Amino acid sequence: MAVFSRCSRAATAPTRIATATFAYVIRALSSSSFCSSSTLNTETDLNNNNKPAALGTLQREPKGRNVQWVFLGCPGVGKGTYASRLSNLLGVPHIATGDLVRHELASSGPLSSKLKEIVNQGKLVSDEIIIDLLSKRLGVEAAKGESGFILDGFPRTIRQAEILEGVTDIDLVVNLKLREEALLAKCLGRRICSECGGNYNVACIDIKAENGRPGMYMAALPPPPQCESKLITRADDTEEVVKERLRIYHEMTRPVEDFYRSRGKLLEFDLPGGIPESWPKLLQALNLEDHEDKESAAA
Ligand code: ADP
Repeated sequence: MAVFSRCSRAATAPTRIATATFAYVIRALSSSSFCSSSTLNTETDLNNNNKPAALGTLQREPKGRNVQWVFLGCPGVGKGTYASRLSNLLGVPHIATGDLVRHELASSGPLSSKLKEIVNQGKLVSDEIIIDLLSKRLGVEAAKGESGFILDGFPRTIRQAEILEGVTDIDLVVNLKLREEALLAKCLGRRICSECGGNYNVACIDIKAENGRPGMYMAALPPPPQCESKLITRADDTEEVVKERLRIYHEMTRPVEDFYRSRGKLLEFDLPGGIPESWPKLLQALNLEDHEDKESAAA
């Protein structure tokens, strides 16, 4: 995908996209409250004692950097889909904390069984574990010389948002919104190819217009033939667990929306339907253009 930004600033969001001049690495701070975990990096930065809530610290380097965006939204809204498309378009890493958790869960590491229990109940993993997983991933990206990111699924608590705010400048927070009745159906219809990792959806959502509310149609996203026999469902995509994840989102993550709204960083985006309708409108809201998408549509 090729990108063309019509200007360096999103039209609808008061942000400083790609203009700040810091590169950074978050390092886990040693803290008596959580350094018992065998996976933690216990590097200490005494200069950060004035940040009581912070688990992370910042190395600032005087060089340019790419966008630093966050995607918020309920389970099933499509954060992964749109964050991944934007990451290809903008050439920055897409970092989904849900993927980091699932990767750790699938390993035979010491955290695996603990994480499985938490995730399969639809609960949130502790802030300490998430910060640790994220710090390591950012460290890998920094070592590759990558700057910028699109975070998906982080921050999910006020504490995580405060830690992030304490260590770096987030330019823009995109809050994806979808009608409540579509969220559960989308989670239950989600299928993943166990071989290539591709994400598909067998649910076709067709909400009829009523009482002055417009209808909404989202086509299913079927897998290609080579993936059909390899599809799996996420263990936490059952009706009971999705409802718990939605409940926890409202309780723990809605306040994060307010956190960024009050800082003027939140871009609210109501998804009008599936990818064909939503992607161009999202690009428009972000003041971006996708030349390749346009060319393939015109072909
Ligand atoms: P969702 O579809 O619910 O948005 P994700 O794939 O983002 O799911 O995350 C899957 C699970 O991983 C969550 O239910 C939670 O247990 C854990 N998780 C992911 N990100 C975080 C986070 N930032 N804080 C705490 N737990 C997280």
